[in-house]
Amino acid sequence: MKAIAKVAPKKGVELVEKPMPQMGINDVLIKIKKTAICGTDVHIYEWNSWAQEEIKPPLTIGHEYVGEVVEVGSNVKSVKVGERACAATAATAARASATSAARRRASA
Ligand SMILES: [Zn+2]
Repeated sequence: MKAIAKVAPKKGVELVEKPMPQMGINDVLIKIKKTAICGTDVHIYEWNSWAQEEIKPPLTIGHEYVGEVVEVGSNVKSVKVGERACAATAATAARASATSAARRRASA
């Protein structure tokens, strides 16, 4: 899958290929339809003092999106395939992506 990543401790980001994460029993796979660039992403891109303090490359960035649930883990009961999903989190998860797919923990 494609992902936007901060690959090195310098200004800029790169479009990279990443392996699809393995689905766990508590996971939801979301096909991303739209994503956004927020102020946090700009800080990371610019590699300002905040980013240099908070971000440890390599890191896949992006944490605001809308998409469709395409797969759910066997333990997930509150989310169904075909539902719309969105996120606007304050921090990215290690396995999250803002491009073709993302996962999030779902309460069972
Ligand atoms: Zn944000």
